[in-house]
Amino acid sequence: METADVVIIGSGIVGSSVAYHLAQAGCTNVLVIEREAHQGKGSTGKSMGGVRAQFSTPVNIQMSRYSIDFFSRFDEVVGHPADYRAHGYLFCATSESHLAYLQANRERQISLGVNNVEWVSPGEIQAIVPQLRTDDILGGTFCPTDGFVDPHSVMMGFMLNARERGARLWLSGLDGKAEPFRTSGRQSRIAGVMTTRGRVSTRVVVNAAGAWAAGVAKMAGAELPVEPLRRQLVPTEPFDQLPKRFPMVIDMSTGFHFRREGKGILLAWNDPAETPGFKMEFDATFVEKILTRAASRVPVLAEAEVNPRRAWAGLYEMTPDHHAIIGPAPNVKGLYFVNGFSGHGVMHSPASGRIAADLILSGHSDLIDAAQLSVERFAEGKLLEETAVL
Ligand SMILES: Cc1cc2nc3c(=O)[nH]c(=O)nc-3n(C[C@H](O)[C@H](O)[C@H](O)COP(=O)(O)OP(=O)(O)OC[C@H]3O[C@@H](n4cnc5c(N)ncnc54)[C@H](O)[C@@H]3O)c2cc1C
Repeated sequence: METADVVIIGSGIVGSSVAYHLAQAGCTNVLVIEREAHQGKGSTGKSMGGVRAQFSTPVNIQMSRYSIDFFSRFDEVVGHPADYRAHGYLFCATSESHLAYLQANRERQISLGVNNVEWVSPGEIQAIVPQLRTDDILGGTFCPTDGFVDPHSVMMGFMLNARERGARLWLSGLDGKAEPFRTSGRQSRIAGVMTTRGRVSTRVVVNAAGAWAAGVAKMAGAELPVEPLRRQLVPTEPFDQLPKRFPMVIDMSTGFHFRREGKGILLAWNDPAETPGFKMEFDATFVEKILTRAASRVPVLAEAEVNPRRAWAGLYEMTPDHHAIIGPAPNVKGLYFVNGFSGHGVMHSPASGRIAADLILSGHSDLIDAAQLSVERFAEGKLLEETAVL
C-alpha cells in the first residue's frame, strides 16, 4: 500500500502552496491528489489575479502583507515566475461613508505595517486614469505594491518546486464508490484515503478542494460552511483608449472594477443577484449589465467591443464571514481545512500554505494567531466579517 505523511486533496493554487511549504520545511513525503486531467481547472484558472493589502480586517491585512512580500521574491525563492506586477489598486469613493471607511481601513493597514497606502484626491485619480468620470468622486486610496500575479504560473511554481523536493502529484480523485476516508479509534482519526488509484495510508489529510471543499469534508464526516458562488469576468477586445499601464480601479458606487489584460481590458462586477450553486456557465445577459456600469464610470468603454464567447465564469468559495477557514477539523483528528477564501485564495496563497504547514508540523503558526481562522469560530459566534470583498 502507498503511504504518505500528508495527503492534500486538490492541486489548485492553495493545495500547491501547502505542498510547497510542507516540502520546504522538510516534510517531503507529501501526495497531492487532483481529480481533473490537469492542474488549474478549478477557480485558480478562472481568477483575475488581483493581489492587494487594502483589506479591512487585521487578519486579512497580515495575510496580504506576508503574501505580497512573498510574491515580490517568488521568482528567486521558488525558482519559477509569478509575474507579479506592482501596478497598484485604486479605490474610488463617491460618498462620505466610503471615505470614512477607506480612512479607517488605511489607519488599520498602516498600523499593521502596510505604510504605503496613499490618500488620493479626485484630481490625482484623474491623473492616474484620465478617462475616468470623476465628477462624483470625493477621493480614494492607492497602494502601489498591490497589483497582479499570474495565478496559473504561481500554482505551477509552487507545485514544481514541491515536486523537485520529493512531493508527488497524482491525477486521481477520491473513490466515491468505497469509503473515501478510513478512520480509526474511538475518536475519529484519519488512517487512510481511498483514491481512484488505490488506497493510501496516511494520518494527515488536507482539504484544499476549493469550492468543492464542503463535499470533501462531508465524506470525512466533518461540517464545513463553504458555498460556491458564481463570479463572471468579461474581457474586451484590444482597446487603446485607456493607458497601457494603470492600477486595478474600483468604483465603490457600484463595485465595478477593471484592469488592463494584454491589449484589452478585463471587466469585473459582483452581481448581487447571483445565488449560491455550482453554476459554471457564463450567462450572456451579464455582458449588458457590466457594460452599463463600465460606461457609466469610464465613458470611452462604451466603444469597447466584447465577444461574449471569450468571457468566462468560475466559482468563489464563500464562508459566512468572508474569511478563510484554516486549521484542524474539530471532530476528525488528522483532517485539516485550507478553504473558504471567499475570492481571495490567489492573493493569500503564500500565507495560507505557510500557516497550514505550520499547523500540521508544529501545531501553531507565528505568522498570525491562527485560532481566529478555525472553523469553530462559527459555532462560538466569533465571526470576523470582511467588508472589502470585490
Ligand atoms: C472569476 C474569478 C475571479 C477571481 N479573482 C481573484 C483575484 O483577483 N484574486 C484572488 O486572490 N482570488 C481571486 N479569485 C478566487 C481564487 O481564484 C480562489 O480563491 C482560489 O483559486 C482558490 O484556490 P484553491 O486551490 O483553493 O481552489 P481551486 O483552484 O478551485 O482548486 C481546487 C482543486 O480541487 C480539486 N478537487 C475538488 N474535489 C476534489 C476531489 N474530490 N478529489 C481530488 N481533487 C478535487 C479541483 O479539481 C480543483 O483543481 C477569483 C475567482 C474567480 C472565480
